[in-house]
Amino acid sequence: MTMETDDTPSVCTGTLAALRALAAEPPVSITNALRATDAQAQLLVDLMTPAYHQPLLGRHASLIPSVIVETIDDLPVPGTAFWAKRCWHIHIRASDPIDTQNFTVLHELKHIIDYPLRRKQPDRLSDSDWETLADHFAGRMLARESSHNAWDVGSANKPQAGQWPTTKTGGAS
Ligand SMILES: [Zn+2]
Repeated sequence: MTMETDDTPSVCTGTLAALRALAAEPPVSITNALRATDAQAQLLVDLMTPAYHQPLLGRHASLIPSVIVETIDDLPVPGTAFWAKRCWHIHIRASDPIDTQNFTVLHELKHIIDYPLRRKQPDRLSDSDWETLADHFAGRMLARESSHNAWDVGSANKPQAGQWPTTKTGGAS
């Protein structure tokens, strides 16, 4: 999926700001940071719930328009995030399976969420800790996603969009 970048917003607010607000202080430990990561994943799941009929990548695009996601043909890594033209961009490898792309987008999104915190306190967590947090965030999101998708099987009693259950049916610690 390649998205137009012509209407790139100049500020990052809304969803991104709300996600960052859940971890406004530099983490005192990886445990502390993982807890905040869980809260961020839950918030994003809740925000995406009314749009569960849309593809995952598209939902992120409409929810966080200040992060532009593009698939790139010859990317040497699964994904990368960078700031350009006053906006965040996530590039993901076009040849990867959709499940990998979904994971990668969420992983890179977490790096974007964490960026100000990481910059403020670069020594608080190690690079591998930040990678762990990004993997954890993506894993949590996809676990929630698959628990929602389970409703699609034998969908006689399937709730309408906007009425999805918000109980923690998957991946709860
Ligand atoms: Zn990473």
